[in-house]
Amino acid sequence: MPNAVNLTSEIEKQLPAELVEFMQMSGLLASSREESLYLVGGVVRDLLLGQANVDLDLVVEGNAIDLAYRLGTTKQAKITTHPRFNTAKLQWNNWSVDLATARSETYAKPGALPSVKAGTIENDLFRRDFTINAMAVCLTPGHYGELIDLHGGKNDIGHKLVRVLHGKSFIDDATRIWRSLRYEQRLDFQLEQNTLGLLKRDISMLDTISGDRIRHELELILNERYPEKVLRRAGELGVLAKLHPALKAESWLTEKFKEARQLGSTTTTPAGLYLALLTYNLSNDDIEHLISYLRFPKALAKIIRDTEGIRSNLQSLADPELAPSQIYRLLYGSSSIAIQANLLASDSVVTHRHLQLFIDKLRYVKPALTGNTLKNIGIAAGPQIKEILQLLYEARLDGRANNKQDEEEIVKEWLQTGKQNKIRS
Ligand code: ATP
Repeated sequence: MPNAVNLTSEIEKQLPAELVEFMQMSGLLASSREESLYLVGGVVRDLLLGQANVDLDLVVEGNAIDLAYRLGTTKQAKITTHPRFNTAKLQWNNWSVDLATARSETYAKPGALPSVKAGTIENDLFRRDFTINAMAVCLTPGHYGELIDLHGGKNDIGHKLVRVLHGKSFIDDATRIWRSLRYEQRLDFQLEQNTLGLLKRDISMLDTISGDRIRHELELILNERYPEKVLRRAGELGVLAKLHPALKAESWLTEKFKEARQLGSTTTTPAGLYLALLTYNLSNDDIEHLISYLRFPKALAKIIRDTEGIRSNLQSLADPELAPSQIYRLLYGSSSIAIQANLLASDSVVTHRHLQLFIDKLRYVKPALTGNTLKNIGIAAGPQIKEILQLLYEARLDGRANNKQDEEEIVKEWLQTGKQNKIRS
């Protein structure tokens, strides 16, 4: 027998009972429709590694959408379908399961999205990125739990190797270059020697990939537990320079990423802050190139731009004589992640104090009087109100006004000076 490995006991040990029961029921239902169902991809890899992963990817030799509707009714699951790709997602309670029709893919030209047609599980595994991701577990009763490992994935897991399935893999889809580094560093594996050679040979193929797809890979990296390891390796191999030649991932970045993690929550990764640090030393022009190449969404583009904006004001922010209202003016409107990035990146004690003061206190300061209150006491709408509000903000920030009465005094004074000015002119 070519393959006698059965993962039933790993499945039962590592996956929640509700998902195990769902997989058994799904295999049975598929089989009653004369279809074969398989568990595939990362979850199979992680079962062999003994690591928790509940993102189930199922592949059916048959019709994934039809099967999803049949399975969905038994679970009262929410079903999302993509008829173009014949895939479906089932969501119920806290679970989410992807279901796809087994397919084969061909690449008309490097970097283009593949042409897809329905196929067998063998075809489906052959289109995958690395041997460790190209295994399946059969869910059909009678063969339940059997590992299908046509490319030596289990052996590569044993030897801690990331290996492509064939010599044209990076040419077909150069996003796999980034993906290989992500798995290598996440799992503490190594690129298999021939794969490393192919990667070096095919680095220029990254130019065939759209900015959107590269950005997606970068986002996946920034959501890893230790993205700096992937970026550092990408730097060594000349892959990072393909993102932008001015990007560097050396010990400074490693240190700053560690500090960024210490700041934040343990459950979410600070991807925005990582991005701000990664692009920290880029010039304004470089940043604009990168933003338009990778087509960052507005919120991320703002973080990167604000980080650079604050960095270009660091000299002013290092002035110990700066009044709170001046600090406010330099930082007002900036994204708080951009301020955090500068806090991490700058060495000046005074700058730190000023940035921290803004984060902890100044950004919340607000006068008691509003534009409406000013209108109600007879000040005409327009530039006058703006000028007074500005004065009130500054007085509050610099401690010259601490309550509503203080502010009313300031308005009175302003009105008197205004009148005197009018009489004089
Ligand atoms: P992760 O590996 O990050 O834990 P995952 O394995 O589920 O999660 P996805 O990015 O969701 O990874 O992809 C699912 C599977 O699809 C992968 O395991 C791999 O087999 C395959 N795959 C994803 N992207 C590619 C690609 N660019 N080329 C070939 N196969 C791919």
